[in-house]
Amino acid sequence: MAANTNLFTDKEITNWFKTFIALNVTKQGLTNFLETQLQNVHAVVGRSCGNCPIEKLIPCPTKPYCKKLKLNYCRFHKSQKPQPCPTCDHVKQNIILQHRYSGPSWRNTRAENWAQDYWEIGKCFFPPDGYSSVCSVQESDFNGVISIMLNCLHFQTCLSSSCLSPPPPDKQCPLEKVIQF
Ligand SMILES: [Zn+2]
Ligand SMILES: [Zn+2]
Repeated sequence: MAANTNLFTDKEITNWFKTFIALNVTKQGLTNFLETQLQNVHAVVGRSCGNCPIEKLIPCPTKPYCKKLKLNYCRFHKSQKPQPCPTCDHVKQNIILQHRYSGPSWRNTRAENWAQDYWEIGKCFFPPDGYSSVCSVQESDFNGVISIMLNCLHFQTCLSSSCLSPPPPDKQCPLEKVIQF
């Protein structure tokens, strides 16, 4: 079947390709920076006990995780009942403090790995869903990388103020413009 569109002469498609490549190159350029800074965030939030999954650390019910279809049955907590752990709760509170909107993406993270893996802390700053299986900065898309930088307050201390001025949420913020693209 003959294609109606010539891939290399259609201006919009060419521009889309260029943008796709540019976003990828930019993401690669940010990889080392992001990894180093997430290690710093890891040091700031502290060490978890390494045994508690996120289900254990979130009380039931908590929006938007718990949806009780039947009385006393919560799909989110079906494998683990909430149970206090002062060590992990302290880390959890510190992650909330680091989040610009106080709403970390708990569904993306494996809290059991908070103790030894800074990337699991970074995943709390992703968009709310769809990133749980992303295992590294390299595997993340550009949107994920920029979301971490916008949502995690630590990055305010290492980015030029022109990147975050005015601070998000603001449609004029250069980083947010990229996400809207
Ligand atoms: Zn714990
Ligand atoms: Zn629940």
